[in-house]
Amino acid sequence: MDSLRLEIENRRDDLIRLTQDLIRIPTLNPPGRHYREICDYLAARLTAGGWTCEMIRAHGAPGDSEEFPRWNLIARHDPGRPGECVHFNGHHDVVEVGHGWRRDPFGAELDQGRIYGRGACDMKGGLAAAIVAAEAFVARHPDHPGRIEISATADEESGGFGGVAFLAERGAFAHVGHVIIPEPLHKDRICLGHRGVWWAEIETHGRIAHGSMPFLGDSAIRHMGAVLDEMERRLFPLLRTRRTDMPVIPEGAKSSTLNINSIHGGEPDLGPGFTGLPAPCVADRCRIVIDRRFLIEEDLAEVKREVTALLEKVRAERPTFTYEIRDLFEVIPSMTERGAPVVRSTAAAIERVLGREAGYVVSPGTYDQKHIDRIGKLKNCIAYGPGVLDLAHQPDEWIGVQDMLDSARVMALVLDDLLNGAPPPRG
Ligand SMILES: [Zn+2]
Repeated sequence: MDSLRLEIENRRDDLIRLTQDLIRIPTLNPPGRHYREICDYLAARLTAGGWTCEMIRAHGAPGDSEEFPRWNLIARHDPGRPGECVHFNGHHDVVEVGHGWRRDPFGAELDQGRIYGRGACDMKGGLAAAIVAAEAFVARHPDHPGRIEISATADEESGGFGGVAFLAERGAFAHVGHVIIPEPLHKDRICLGHRGVWWAEIETHGRIAHGSMPFLGDSAIRHMGAVLDEMERRLFPLLRTRRTDMPVIPEGAKSSTLNINSIHGGEPDLGPGFTGLPAPCVADRCRIVIDRRFLIEEDLAEVKREVTALLEKVRAERPTFTYEIRDLFEVIPSMTERGAPVVRSTAAAIERVLGREAGYVVSPGTYDQKHIDRIGKLKNCIAYGPGVLDLAHQPDEWIGVQDMLDSARVMALVLDDLLNGAPPPRG
């Protein structure tokens, strides 16, 4: 048994306790609760272990307020010898609990090798595994060359603007050589990146009139119906045929996709307390929000033009049709090359620890890699961590203790390889 392996096995109870403590701090987002508390907890632990900790509040970021400040932590271990910088980044926020739980979502119950709770797999278990991996490596190599960094960041679940994006804009990744984001992608798989995103709002216009004489008005809902019909007949079938060479999982996400997130037409919703009847009116406006996920082979400008062309076609066919389209959000696809140093190092470590070849995947949705790529200008970044992706955001979310230990071993071997230049030992 190699010494790093022993070092990590000996930390089993500590890893369990750390994961439980993190789950028990309910860092719900929205609105963004207890961010300072979780950063303080981690800073106390890491400072005691000889790490230098910096707390950074994302002043002015979306959602940041005196009531819900956006706190981030960066911890650094730097013995002062030249070398590479390896950075582990984990988001500390979790999504709402939702219905259907049989376990206490913030109880962090340990049962048959699994720890249950909101954020167990996405991604407090991964963050805990990365911390223990780094601590085990430092215990064996206190004077290692280069630098190790661990960041615990806010708001990944709501776009990362008060977290990784904020840090990247302030140069936090300028000196970083390698990034591992321990999101729950399975301990034997390397996630190279994600598809692109374009959200837009489309509004059709009409003219209000009495509902008993709709011919005196012009229905924005019927105009939107024509748009949706065009999407059904032409756009959706076309998108299904467009396939990527990216190894996206699940299989269906290898095609371009479009979701219609919402539709609102006519009178505003009168709310649950209202007991009267609605008024008979022709709808003078109708809005939809679309969520288009695009492939690395597609061009964002072309993706937008395709939708505009569809709207123009409807306009040519309907004399009174007018519309507006407004961009809400966009993310360019990101994919790290398989030959990148962090990918090769992680693949070799997975093979040593698990005895099988690493799988390569690309995420259907985005995560904080987008900010490290676009703002931080760093391509040498992957997501790698323990846990079952399908459990994320679900009731009775859990993380497996053995999966955390195995992925911690992988991450410790990656540190050994990238900092010490040691090939991962067998065993
Ligand atoms: Zn996550």
